[in-house]
Parts: sequence; structure tokens; C-alpha cells
Amino acid sequence: MINKNKVKICPSCRKPTIEFFIGLETGNYSCRCGYVGPIVIEVEKTRKKNIGRKNK
Ligand SMILES: [Zn+2]
Repeated sequence: MINKNKVKICPSCRKPTIEFFIGLETGNYSCRCGYVGPIVIEVEKTRKKNIGRKNK
């Protein structure tokens, strides 16, 4: 199932600035706040908030 209504957020700073990170071990994520780890929080986008920079 592909659900694009979900967004991954950082468990440390709670911001959607986390991205998939391939380093020494695959399957980790890295965030701009410095967090690196396999744990991310997935939340559903239920509100039309400007998350990130997806303005066209
Ligand atoms: Zn973070």
C-alpha cells in the first residue's frame, strides 16, 4: 500500500526535515538537527499546513 498522505518526522525535533540516509548502515535516517537513526515517526497529513518547502 502506498500512502502519500504520510510524512516522516524526526523523533528528536519533531520536524519533517528528516531524510533517508545511507551511511555505514543502510536504513538510517538523518535530520538537519543532527539526529541519525533508524527510528522515524510517521504521521498522516490531515491538515493543509505548509510543511517544508513544496510551494510551486
Ligand atoms: Zn530533527
